Amino acid sequence: MALRVEHDIFLIRQRGREVAAAVGLENQDQIRIATALSELARQVLADAGGADVVFLTELGEQVRLRVDLTTAAPVPPSTLTAGPAAAARRLVDQFVVEDDGPATVVRMSRPIPSSAEPLTTERLARLRSRLAESRPGGPLDELSVQNDQLIAALDEARRHRDELSRLNDELAETNQGVLALYSQLSEELEETNRGVVALYAELDEKSVQLRAASEAKSRFLANVSHELRAPVTAIMGLARLLSDSASDPLTGEQGRQVSLIRDSATDLLALVNDLLDLAKAEAGRIEPVWAQVDLRVVFGQLRGTLRALETGARLVVEEPPPEALLRSDEVLLSRILRNLLHNGLKFTEHGEVRMVAERDGEDWRISVSDTGVGIPAGLHDRIFEEFYQAPGGGRSVGTGLGLPYARRLTTLLGGTVDLTSEVGRGSTFVVTLPARGVPVDEPAQWPGSEG
Ligand code: ADP
Repeated sequence: MALRVEHDIFLIRQRGREVAAAVGLENQDQIRIATALSELARQVLADAGGADVVFLTELGEQVRLRVDLTTAAPVPPSTLTAGPAAAARRLVDQFVVEDDGPATVVRMSRPIPSSAEPLTTERLARLRSRLAESRPGGPLDELSVQNDQLIAALDEARRHRDELSRLNDELAETNQGVLALYSQLSEELEETNRGVVALYAELDEKSVQLRAASEAKSRFLANVSHELRAPVTAIMGLARLLSDSASDPLTGEQGRQVSLIRDSATDLLALVNDLLDLAKAEAGRIEPVWAQVDLRVVFGQLRGTLRALETGARLVVEEPPPEALLRSDEVLLSRILRNLLHNGLKFTEHGEVRMVAERDGEDWRISVSDTGVGIPAGLHDRIFEEFYQAPGGGRSVGTGLGLPYARRLTTLLGGTVDLTSEVGRGSTFVVTLPARGVPVDEPAQWPGSEG
């Protein structure tokens, strides 16, 4: 098509729309192409005095409708970036300006949707002849078409605006919902927090009460056992006096009864002494005397003093390795080990009771193992409770206070007592103690006494 006079602008616009419709561009795109073309034509007519317009289809991966506008005279590129040409540029998605010597070529195009009917050679020939036959309408026709298009575009814009305001309303509503949920959640969280705080306060209070009760119990035990010691010792003394050869002679039966009284009083005194020891340890009244302890010395003394208790089982106290030194309290450590060895001998009829010391990193591990009756797995914790004795051991053999006492003393020395045992095969108690002792600024905690 030739662009020479102002009337041609209408024709080119009209043709642009018809071609766009014929190749399958959507309504909106038809308007875009037609409007871009008429804007550009207006500018080119003013600047270059005219142009030739060619419609082409670009076939390839993406099929496009292209319009080439070759101006009658060169147009400076700056005039194609402002005014009506700039508007045209926005309406198409490819807009290329080429300098072609005596002319300027502007190529612009839009893709044809893939849903459109394929542009075969026959179809293009048919479209071409149909377009050639159609008579162009007058400017008034074109104006009315433009008006229709404008109305349609306005309608579309209003629909968009309505949709947008609906979406906005929805968004505002969602936001309100989210806010409400958030405030509900934070209220719930606050309430839970308050509950947790109250619970902690209650726990604190309970643990204070517990500590007070435990202290009262220790005080009671200490006092009672202390008070009991004097009369029990007196009973023993009197019984000894009665059976003394210097006293009046007793009949056989009387002598037997007095010796029963003495035996019972001896047992009672042992119990009272154990109770007193334990109460002192629990009340924190035992202060370890920290010093360098040589395990060889401790083992040597225990070997000597406990040999007398050997009945069925053999006592084997192995010589500790050289340099078996640790910072501890020799008296307390001896008491712990004596208790364990004593138990071993008490509960082992055949075989042996063996004590071994070995270094384990920062610790010393002293194990006392026996080949005795063993302890059922379910009682491994219970036997460390005060007065607990495993069934079958016979009540008369002890007080049930030895192990809790041993464990408390070990804790005081910064260590632990662990047990492995199997019924019928024997038991192994392992005392683990830090070689460096307990630093003065972090004294050992009593089990259950921490806040
Ligand atoms: P006691 O020996 O005075 O009864 P302990 O506290 O020392 O009290 O021991 C508690 C219980 O643990 C014992 O009565 C016994 O049932 C069990 N027990 C302790 N040591 C051994 C052991 N070496 N072998 C078997 N049972 C043991």
